[in-house]
Amino acid sequence: MMLEVKQASKAYGKQQALKDIDWKVKRGEFWGVIGPNGSGKSTLLNLLSGTERADAGEVLLHDKPIESYRRKELSRRLAVLQQDGLPPISFTVREVLEMGRYPFQNWRGTDMDEHAEHILEDIMQRLDLTSLADRPLSSLSGGQRQRAALGKVMAQQPEIILLDEPTTFLDIRYQLQFMELVETWRQQEDLTVIAVMHDLNLASLYCNALLVLDRGQVAGSGCPKQLMTPELIRRIFAVHAYNVPHPDHGEPQLLYRKGPSQTSPDNSDRIGIR
Ligand code: ADP
Ligand code: MG
Repeated sequence: MMLEVKQASKAYGKQQALKDIDWKVKRGEFWGVIGPNGSGKSTLLNLLSGTERADAGEVLLHDKPIESYRRKELSRRLAVLQQDGLPPISFTVREVLEMGRYPFQNWRGTDMDEHAEHILEDIMQRLDLTSLADRPLSSLSGGQRQRAALGKVMAQQPEIILLDEPTTFLDIRYQLQFMELVETWRQQEDLTVIAVMHDLNLASLYCNALLVLDRGQVAGSGCPKQLMTPELIRRIFAVHAYNVPHPDHGEPQLLYRKGPSQTSPDNSDRIGIR
C-alpha cells in the first residue's frame, strides 16, 4: 500500500483533533479531503507528511512507519504544498525550483542527478513558467506564484503530493488551471494526489475519491457520486443544497439553496460548536 493510516489519533492538549482514523491510499489516486473548519484536515496532512506524530496508531508509507524515513528520502517520495505555497520573496522562479531539488543535493549542494537542469527546464515548460524564470516571486500574481510553488514541489519528483487548500487564494481561472496541471501531472507520472479542498464542486470534478472528516473522525469515504448527497452535505456542513450531475461527465455538483433554511436553529447549533 502506498499510504496507510491505521487507527491514528492526535490531540492538542484537551483538543482531540483526530480520532481513530483508518485510511488507505493507492498509487495514482486523487483524493479530496473535505470537512468543516476545525475538522482535522490539516492535522491529517501533517501526520501524513511526518511533520506531526500521531499519539496513537500509525502512518505507513510503503508499509514502513513514516518516522522511519530519513528527511531527504521522505522528500523524494512526498511533497507538500500549502495554501499560500510561497511568500512574495525576492528569489526568482528558477531559484525556487532549484530549492525543490534539495533532496537530490549532496552535502556540497550539488545536484546528484546530471539531468537536473533539464528536469527544471521541463517543469517550467509544463507549468508555463519559462518566461517567468528570472522574475522574482514578489513581482508575480498569486496565480503565477502558486504555479511556481507547484514547480518547486514537482522538482522534488515525489510519488505523492499533499495539497492543503491549494487554490484558496486564486481566482477561478487560476483555480481551474491549477487543478488541471495537477491532474495532467498525475496522469502522466502516475502521481498520487491528496488535496484538502474547500470547494466541494471542484473536489467532485477532479478527485476520484473523497475522505470526509467531521470533528476529527471519518464521516465518509468513497467516490464523489456516493458522498456528495444533499443529506451528507446537510449533516456535515449544516447547509442545504441540491445536487445535480455535471452536464459534461455527470460528476455531482452542488447548488446551494438560498433562504432562511440555511440558518435554522438546528444549523446554528451545529455551527455554534465550532
Ligand atoms: P482543519 O484543517 O480541518 O480546519 P485542523 O486540523 O487545523 O482543522 O484543526 C483540528 C483541530 O485541532 C481544531 O480544533 C484546531 O483548533 C486544533 N489544532 C490544530 N492545530 C493545533 C495546534 N498546533 N495547537 C492546538 N490546537 C490545534
Ligand atoms: Mg486546515
